[in-house]
Amino acid sequence: HEAATPTPPAELSTPFTLTTGSPRTPEQLAVRFDKADLAIRVMPDSQSIDAVAVLDVTAVQPVDRLAFELDTRLPIRSIVLNGRPLTTAEWRNPDGRLTITLPQTLPAGRGASVRIAYGGRPRVAPQAPWDGGFVWGAAPNGQPWIATAVQGEGCDLFWPCVDHPQGEPGRVDLHITVPTGLMAPSNGRFLGGVDHGDGWTTWNWSAREPNTYAIALNIGPYVEMSADYVSRYGNTIPLRFWRLSTDDPVKAQGLFDQFPRMMDFYEATVGPFPFGDEKMGVVETPHLGMEHQTINAYGNGYRLDGKGYDWLLHHELAHEWFGNQMTDADYDDLWLHEGLGTYMQPLYARWLNGDRAM
Ligand SMILES: [Zn+2]
Repeated sequence: HEAATPTPPAELSTPFTLTTGSPRTPEQLAVRFDKADLAIRVMPDSQSIDAVAVLDVTAVQPVDRLAFELDTRLPIRSIVLNGRPLTTAEWRNPDGRLTITLPQTLPAGRGASVRIAYGGRPRVAPQAPWDGGFVWGAAPNGQPWIATAVQGEGCDLFWPCVDHPQGEPGRVDLHITVPTGLMAPSNGRFLGGVDHGDGWTTWNWSAREPNTYAIALNIGPYVEMSADYVSRYGNTIPLRFWRLSTDDPVKAQGLFDQFPRMMDFYEATVGPFPFGDEKMGVVETPHLGMEHQTINAYGNGYRLDGKGYDWLLHHELAHEWFGNQMTDADYDDLWLHEGLGTYMQPLYARWLNGDRAM
């Protein structure tokens, strides 16, 4: 079934795919999304991906069909349900909403596992992060420097998901395969890398309850900076920053030194860092920034603002509480993420420099 002739890829993402937060279908509301296991090979030369997603769900009500979203630019090669390959008559993805007809009703409490093999050339971001997709950039040394940013369009630009703020899987495991020599920092905890000896290396990650648009691929010639942060709540949190190898190390260290101060401010002002068992992670990106959970995108070029801190780093970090821990039920309430995040900046200026700095 892997060899089945794929349908030709769509030229453009459909209007449905480019929308995020559409109302969930009855089929989506009838299941709990337990886990997504995503094995994604990223091929810079052809600006394409080749992927296998295994999606585990449990019915909370009896359900006859399963529904996910996936961009039709990424044709599906095969779908296997609970180990049984499906015929193409058993699923359809006409416009980016993938519907799978189950052979029999899935009763409440029963699980199903769907393996979806797909791939192709994902949408290229016209202007990341505001108009999103893949960014196929180059680092100053000429090596590939790749990022994804899909807040405005949703997770379905590169993996089959429930593209809704309440569509968070319980866990997302990532196996990101990239040309050996590049690094692929991502969400959650690092579970090790495997050099396949054929020019490709897989980076394995596991993230608990990630925000759907927060799942991000970041690939480049990075240097990893690391330290431990001892929280006022008694736990120790890994701090990680992946910066380009060509960066000025003094500037990079200057940014990294801001991490613990900002963490202490947020933990004192809002509450415990929500993902302390994973990491506070930041990665340098070829776009300005995005609140990717435990792997915040940073592209602000080490600039300090007039208050003496990096506003972009501070803003994306705010979203770990306002956005990733507390997620709006509907994107009509996105102000809960952005408004509270913005409000943190004058509070931080006061934290650093006193009332007159607010
Ligand atoms: Zn924001």
